[in-house]
Amino acid sequence: MALREQEPPAPGPNEVLVHVAFAGICGSELGAFLGHNALRVPPLVMGHEFAGTVAALGAGASERNPALGVGLPVTVNPLSSCGACAYCLRGDGHLCAGRRLVGAHRPGAYAEYVSVSAETVVPLPAGLTPREGAMAEPVAVAVRLGVLAGPVAGEPVFIAGAGPIGLLALQVLRRLGAGPIFVSDLEPARLAMAEELGGRPIDAGRGDAVRAVREATGGLGAAASVDAVGAAPTRAACVGATRSAGTIVLSGLHEEVGPIPAADVIRRELVLRGSFAYSPADFRAAVVLLAERAVRLDPWVVEADLAEGGPWFERLVSAPGGVAKVLLVP
Ligand SMILES: [Zn+2]
Ligand SMILES: [Zn+2]
Repeated sequence: MALREQEPPAPGPNEVLVHVAFAGICGSELGAFLGHNALRVPPLVMGHEFAGTVAALGAGASERNPALGVGLPVTVNPLSSCGACAYCLRGDGHLCAGRRLVGAHRPGAYAEYVSVSAETVVPLPAGLTPREGAMAEPVAVAVRLGVLAGPVAGEPVFIAGAGPIGLLALQVLRRLGAGPIFVSDLEPARLAMAEELGGRPIDAGRGDAVRAVREATGGLGAAASVDAVGAAPTRAACVGATRSAGTIVLSGLHEEVGPIPAADVIRRELVLRGSFAYSPADFRAAVVLLAERAVRLDPWVVEADLAEGGPWFERLVSAPGGVAKVLLVP
């Protein structure tokens, strides 16, 4: 991770130049840092979880998004899509074959300035700070998980992984009425966060998460499980902890290819679903949740100067400890 001086990007037609205030570090970017992510190839400015203020409008941008003006505090949906295909027309722009991600397909927000499509810019509601607005992207991922988990009100749910996505999914699922919500992890500091946010922690390093969920649910298992890690053991734990005909939502991508207990999926008629990013509506819902103060990662958010980004990547990869999210400040 190298810090370089570059000319600020010029906003093209229908683009908006955003002065970045905060840009979060995402697990997918840690994967890219380790060379595990085919989408992100150096040299690249990463950064797709961010908020700031509008610095300049490219030609036609204010016609595309009339709410925008210079100085307006905004967050940005980093996924843009063609707007014309069947997926886009039904509101599933995140499934568009022409989708493009800021910080992967085009330069991202680990910079003072980033240029983005005008229609992806979302003004921050009154009272929501750019620091909070920078969290909209991971919150939107959790909103999507809640949409795909199925009806969970009054039902036990299992989440594998108490990283930022697991912790946000916990809060979204609680708001949807799920409970109890079991959260497994190997890191005691992360389990303590899950417990403070209303989850039932399971130390996966010291016992069998599947047995713990089964015992606490009268042998039945969870109505839905969320894999917020994406490794063979967490995928297997989600299958084992979910009751027959229940739903498993796969989100984490620690390993792109790996084994899954298929016989159990078949014999117990489990529903396996992938969950990718968020639709444009999920992203707007995330901004509303943040404005309502319904989700948080504080007090486990750390602010760091952009120049300290490199060391933070190394720390987050090896031993994140009690940190749930690092926000880089350019
Ligand atoms: Zn992300
Ligand atoms: Zn499309």
